[in-house]
Amino acid sequence: MNGDDLSAFEAELGFDTLAIRAGYKRTQEAEHDEAIFPTSSYVYSSAAQAAARFTGDEPGNIYSRFTNPTVRTFEDRLAALEGAESCVATSSGMAAIMSTCLGLLKTGDHIVSSRSIFGSTVVLFNNYMARFGVTTSYVDLTDLNDWEAAIQKNTKLLFLETPSNPLVEIADLTRLAELAHQHDCLLVVDNCLCTPALQKPLSMGADIVIHSATKYIDGQGRGVGGAVLGAKEVVGGDVYGVLRTTGPTMSPFNAWIFLKGLETLNLRMKAHCANAMALAQWLDEHPAVDTVYYPGLKSHPGHSLVASQQSDFGALLSFELKNNSREQAWQVVDNTRLLSITANLGDVKSTITHPATTTHGRVALEEREKSGISDGLLRIAVGLESIEDIQNDLQRGLSKLS
Ligand SMILES: *Cc1c(COP(=O)(O)O)cnc(C)c1O
Repeated sequence: MNGDDLSAFEAELGFDTLAIRAGYKRTQEAEHDEAIFPTSSYVYSSAAQAAARFTGDEPGNIYSRFTNPTVRTFEDRLAALEGAESCVATSSGMAAIMSTCLGLLKTGDHIVSSRSIFGSTVVLFNNYMARFGVTTSYVDLTDLNDWEAAIQKNTKLLFLETPSNPLVEIADLTRLAELAHQHDCLLVVDNCLCTPALQKPLSMGADIVIHSATKYIDGQGRGVGGAVLGAKEVVGGDVYGVLRTTGPTMSPFNAWIFLKGLETLNLRMKAHCANAMALAQWLDEHPAVDTVYYPGLKSHPGHSLVASQQSDFGALLSFELKNNSREQAWQVVDNTRLLSITANLGDVKSTITHPATTTHGRVALEEREKSGISDGLLRIAVGLESIEDIQNDLQRGLSKLS
């Protein structure tokens, strides 16, 4: 009947339909927009029902650290978009990564991780997981031999982001999933930069997908949240178990914001990608610019691979100035009037960052150079403003460089 739960025929529905309608069960009030359930606990009709809920004999809500209807709608909708059996929403992207580690690892285990991952993830692995006896080896994202050589008998997880940030290198997900499974490991992909609108890692063999919903899923800079997706036993069991006990769960208010974000996700990602492509091409022709890192350019080493695993090239790009100096890079940043000077990404507002002195400022010089973060490198997370205005804003600084 119209208005009933769509889950029975979700398999027939397209991405945009799922993004707008999946996961919701309308209440008796017949509201059109999804309701927010701001409640910490739930009541029972009898003592027997309370007992049955607590033993787990009867499924249902008990407490919002465990389940909440608004959060569940977000989880079910995102699961439909990623093609996942299970999704658990978390209070942040970092809470998603932490819950995955706590749910799946124990003392003596080992992680092999790409070197090019989010800074706080490195801190989590090196400063916190290490305290509990979980060690991490770092490898070159695009070098399969490097991954293979780093795998030990006690390796449990391979962890990566593709594209990487800020150099937008592309990992071969199919081959890394094969490698992980040959060694009885799980492949964990932080899919924050692509979202399921551009890339579905589970369909290429990955076992777990991580999201920072703070970025493109919200897309408008309003809330912090995250998610873990994968098989029912692993995500719905092991990861969820950590979450309901330790509590970094998503609030219903944020879940509602992210639901609204998902409704326009595909449209926004298409527009982000179109702006990023136009900017990459413009920078590529610019006399003050040396290399542009954007997988949509034919010159990018991952160009053919990316076409086979992403539906578009993403909204993040970086470029190196001909005069590869910190002074000149800062001059470009300081001559902008429009772009936001911030390390954030995944917003309709474009942002400009100098990685060497911000996101990668604490990385030792030698390590930084090894990963290609030079002094003259600038990163743009391309937003949805008029492309001419973004170009003009950069041109103000670029035109002054000798
Ligand atoms: C921002 C980000 C995170 C962390 O997410 P929070 O929501 O800020 O905790 C993790 N991975 C990537 C790739 C990110 O960009």
